[in-house]
Amino acid sequence: MAVTLDTDLARVLGAKTAKAMAESLELRTVRDLLRHYPRRYATRGEMTRLDDLQVGDRVTVLAQVRRVVSRKMRSRPGTLTEVTVGDGAGEMQLVFFNRRHGQLQQGAWGLFAGTVGQYRNSKQFAHPDFHLITGDDDEDWARALIPIYPASKDVSSWVIQKSIRLLLDASGGFGFVEDPLPQDLRTRHGLLSLPAALLDVHRPTTADDVERAGERLKWDEALILQLVLAARRRAAALEPGTARPRSSGGLLDAVDAALPFSLTEGQQAVGEELAAELSRDHPMHRLLQGEVGSGKTVVALRAMAQVVDAGGQAALLAPTEVLAAQHARSISAMLGPLARAGELDGDPAGTKVVLLTGSLKAAARRAARAAVADGSAGIVVGTHALLQEGVDFADLGLVVVDEQHRFGVEQRDALRAKGNRPPHVLVMTATPIPRTVAMTVYGDLETSVLRQLPSGRGGVASSVVPVSDRPAWLGRAWERLREEVAAGRQAYVVCPRIGDDDTGTADTDAPEDADGAPEKGAGEDERRPPLAVLDVAEALREGPLAGLRIDVLHGRLTPEDKEARMRAFASGETQVLVATTVVEVGVDVPNATVMVVMDADRFGVSQLHQLRGRVARGRHRGLFLLVTEARETTATGQRLAAVAGTSDGFELARLDLETRREGDVLGAAQSGKRSTLRLLSLLEDEELIATARAEATELLATRGGLADHPGLAAEVAALATDERATYLEKA
Ligand code: ADP
Ligand code: MG
Repeated sequence: MAVTLDTDLARVLGAKTAKAMAESLELRTVRDLLRHYPRRYATRGEMTRLDDLQVGDRVTVLAQVRRVVSRKMRSRPGTLTEVTVGDGAGEMQLVFFNRRHGQLQQGAWGLFAGTVGQYRNSKQFAHPDFHLITGDDDEDWARALIPIYPASKDVSSWVIQKSIRLLLDASGGFGFVEDPLPQDLRTRHGLLSLPAALLDVHRPTTADDVERAGERLKWDEALILQLVLAARRRAAALEPGTARPRSSGGLLDAVDAALPFSLTEGQQAVGEELAAELSRDHPMHRLLQGEVGSGKTVVALRAMAQVVDAGGQAALLAPTEVLAAQHARSISAMLGPLARAGELDGDPAGTKVVLLTGSLKAAARRAARAAVADGSAGIVVGTHALLQEGVDFADLGLVVVDEQHRFGVEQRDALRAKGNRPPHVLVMTATPIPRTVAMTVYGDLETSVLRQLPSGRGGVASSVVPVSDRPAWLGRAWERLREEVAAGRQAYVVCPRIGDDDTGTADTDAPEDADGAPEKGAGEDERRPPLAVLDVAEALREGPLAGLRIDVLHGRLTPEDKEARMRAFASGETQVLVATTVVEVGVDVPNATVMVVMDADRFGVSQLHQLRGRVARGRHRGLFLLVTEARETTATGQRLAAVAGTSDGFELARLDLETRREGDVLGAAQSGKRSTLRLLSLLEDEELIATARAEATELLATRGGLADHPGLAAEVAALATDERATYLEKA
């Protein structure tokens, strides 16, 4: 039979098996089956640690029958057969009612699959599926390494193994599989051919085989993904855009003259990069990563000024209304009369800065929209919703997206569809993105990094306050807070929940938790609810912080109310702000030097790092306290210690990636049954991903490009269309 990768499995395996595979594992074609790799390999002698199995796991184990005991049941008619199987490390009961399994004899080896249950004090499988390895079984079972596949109730691991075997027999080997990777690339990186790698991954003889096959198969994943991304970058680079070249004597020069500080080297370098890209007649797509407090706003403002000087408009989008209002305020303050062109006291060389958010009163909103539509507003500040609301721009030249590393491909596509020529786009984030994630999830953006903080910052001292281990420390924490306030500084107290009658833990106005939700441990349900802003504020007013001017801030307040409270804090009127993570992103009050995070274990690593950034903004040394009930010795305690121990955002981003499942990074595709990244790991394969990225860029830049590699082109096309929505989107 002529088999190809696209052959329907029914033709090879028969209708019944094929149907089960399609329904429970989404395996439909030969390609699907071959790319369904074993999860692990069972070996005799070094067996699964049965002891480690968790109740509820669905597993396949290789074990030997130790004892078989049948007895009449007392409570009802029939017999019960208990089969004890074991491996080196532990034993487990298989329980069968009213069924004799003659083959289950002492000493027999087999694969046993089922859901782990518990009876009295031991683990058991009730009615497991099993496949015994008998003397006259084919050579599959004589292998040193028995592949254990991701399986389902209807399709067991050994059925998959047999199916692969059938496929091999039907096609006379995997010779029919064409290798999409160019020969020269394979030689360069010492990679197996695809047929050889498939054979080794499904039917290995040694652990070495598995490793070499894995290396090669990861390359497929990495290269094809990078080709998709590189193609996007190339397409974007060819798109027509409007050049907004730098000119002198305008707003940009005025901004530079008005800056109360000199730019850091990093700000200058990134500024040059942006200036050059804005001058091209192709739209810029750039991601600017910069530590919290590294001064991204001024970099963005200078880019916006350049665009305004060139006759265009710039929009600055923030994730929350609080932050949008703050941006509008600080930009207006920085520009002074330059922000009020057209007004009596305005400078005609300047432009108009408008804030356009959902909470504006109707009249103000109409006026703002009119200024945006007629072009008199050069700088428009709003929330991310601004672009979806159908606001008309006279000539939108640049969109700056602040603190949103989830501004995905689709959103950028939507932007591109707006207006006649797509605007330049700058995405900014203070959440450091590990290099591998930058190369995959954000792989179609060029990136710039601001590592340096402006000099003259006081720095932050961080420590964990483990209230279970050291109850006295909490009192000391409040004393420290009081001392700072007495010295004229201000403080934040952050809680995971709003309080009163909210049920969930999330504050809906807080930025989405992009950074790894706090982990849910086992027994999560029994944990007490997280501390709430309203309760904590109350307790502090009556207790340790009595007499201080305390206010609260959270997402249930109206936008005007939030804005007013934020203003009162910025002006120093409020001394202590008890808040949810609405303060996580971008809020800039340099006089605030203390932050106490309650239930710190309920926050993700990156989120904590973000929060810390709020007290690292001024001349004074900041103090960042992580209050937790987690014991110092637990994993959670250590995670918090790591956050306190370093302020290197990139190191923390890596830690964050380690503590999360990678699936959360890549979105649903990763956890789905047919994810595209089966073997490639964002944690472990950094070098491979970087090399594949370089190869992909190179390959597309050569004369024939993908056209010279039809096999690759087909894989790329399949990924680009099929899985784009789930795979490239992290939103
Ligand atoms: P982030 O990168 O976190 O958005 P901001 O842009 O809010 O940081 O900047 C943080 C603070 O640093 C602001 O108060 C800003 O005015 C100040 N700042 C920015 N650049 C410099 C610089 N070169 N020297 C001194 N202070 C600066
Ligand atoms: Mg910022």
